[in-house]
Amino acid sequence: MQAAGENKKLLNHAEKKKISLYSVGVNFVLSLIKIVGGVVSGSAALTADGVHSLSDLAASLSVYVGIVISNKKSKLFPQGLYKVENLVALVSAFAIFFAGYEIAKDVLFEASKPIKNLPIAVGVIGLTVLITFLYSRWEKRKAEELNSPSLLADAEHIKADFYTALVVLVGVFGQYFGYPIVEKIAVVVVVYFIFHSGFEILKEAIKVLLDASLDHESIEKIREILEREPKVKKVLAVTGRNAGSFKFVQLDLDLDTDSLKEAHELAHDIEDRIKAEMPFVEKVVVHYQ
Ligand SMILES: [Zn+2]
Repeated sequence: MQAAGENKKLLNHAEKKKISLYSVGVNFVLSLIKIVGGVVSGSAALTADGVHSLSDLAASLSVYVGIVISNKKSKLFPQGLYKVENLVALVSAFAIFFAGYEIAKDVLFEASKPIKNLPIAVGVIGLTVLITFLYSRWEKRKAEELNSPSLLADAEHIKADFYTALVVLVGVFGQYFGYPIVEKIAVVVVVYFIFHSGFEILKEAIKVLLDASLDHESIEKIREILEREPKVKKVLAVTGRNAGSFKFVQLDLDLDTDSLKEAHELAHDIEDRIKAEMPFVEKVVVHYQ
């Protein structure tokens, strides 16, 4: 049971590492084709979006590094480095805010330039729409399977990039047909999406880093498991916190036994049962009286 759990954890970690490396690749391809396409076609909005993808590339690289580090346990960090994953999410949120600010500044306060080559601009945007749509859907499903906050944040971000590309497309057409204001509006919408996704990632990261409580649903599920155990006379408290992809649970129980040995065994049984029924529970500490 214990060994199988450890094995699954290692497998999940390898899988997360692989997916986060795919994201680095996707963002590399996106920045490359957007910047080249933007410069060749003369589209300011597409070039700006390329710069945005470049900052995404930096963020996804740091997610990859975060996932690699979070698996390390050491004497200095005996509780593990699970929260590195959340810390990395926090840093990428700021990278996203910075990219949003840069794009807004460039396009809003500079004179708009004409589109030189419409087919190239449209072709490149079409390609980025396809890549971001398919990849964000696939990554979101994987992130939910693996319960990984950094991969979920990444999938949400790439979904926002999909909408961004659609808006850039509208902006390119507007500019081409002589309405530069459409391009400026497109950029404002792009910036809104960028800030929104940054804010969501920031909120989630801060909650976990400051040890916000376990979610209501998990606590209810634990109570339900405890109620099925006849030796538990009373559940005094169920508390817990998240760290990275994992949950740490603490229980205060009134047990129906006078034997210290029996109480100790019961505490172990309860921990095993909770771990068996709930995914991603790393540790259950039981206090009993
Ligand atoms: Zn992005």
